[in-house]
Amino acid sequence: MKIIDISMAITPEIMVYNNNPEKRPKIWLTATHEKNGIQETRISMDAHTGTHMDAPLHMIDGGDTIEHTPLEKLIVPCRVLDFSHIKEKISAEDLKQKEIHSGEFILLKTRSSFSDDFDFNFVFVDESGATYLKDKAIMGVGIDAPGIERSQPGHETHRTLLGHEIPIIEGLRLAHVDEGEYVLIALPIKLNTAEAAPMRAILLPAGSLTE
Ligand SMILES: [Zn+2]
Repeated sequence: MKIIDISMAITPEIMVYNNNPEKRPKIWLTATHEKNGIQETRISMDAHTGTHMDAPLHMIDGGDTIEHTPLEKLIVPCRVLDFSHIKEKISAEDLKQKEIHSGEFILLKTRSSFSDDFDFNFVFVDESGATYLKDKAIMGVGIDAPGIERSQPGHETHRTLLGHEIPIIEGLRLAHVDEGEYVLIALPIKLNTAEAAPMRAILLPAGSLTE
């Protein structure tokens, strides 16, 4: 079966939000073959680094945590929408062109997939776009940008989606993926009580799920 990896590699050099050095993962060896006869690695990283999922608690006080995201929402048919031509932001008007249906899991491909550097002007989903997706009652949304939102001080996009229990995946890699239908498998690690968690996300050919 063809499996398409749409995850970022986690390395000490990975792109991090605002290029903030504190957010860079630290990865080091606590045991080596030379000294210990085995190898063991320790990591220290922000839960929002690389490909990850946001849970409601990220933006909503008392909101649900990442381990409660229903697994039924994370192994699902999905549709990749190509917005790589868009320069600034994805609005309701842009999404309307794609005829989004209730219950769809939508992945948004933007120009972010084509660079490994942090872009301070990354393409994001504005409040009108988030409201449109919420009104369509989508199952979930993912984007390749380092965040689904910027330049909205009230975090309206996150709040609108997470407030309606629509999980958000950020930091996908979609340059090698064409617009179209797939099966998404996107499982955040079981980081109990956290507001987010890193994940490995993959796509399978449409129809791989037997309903
Ligand atoms: Zn996040």
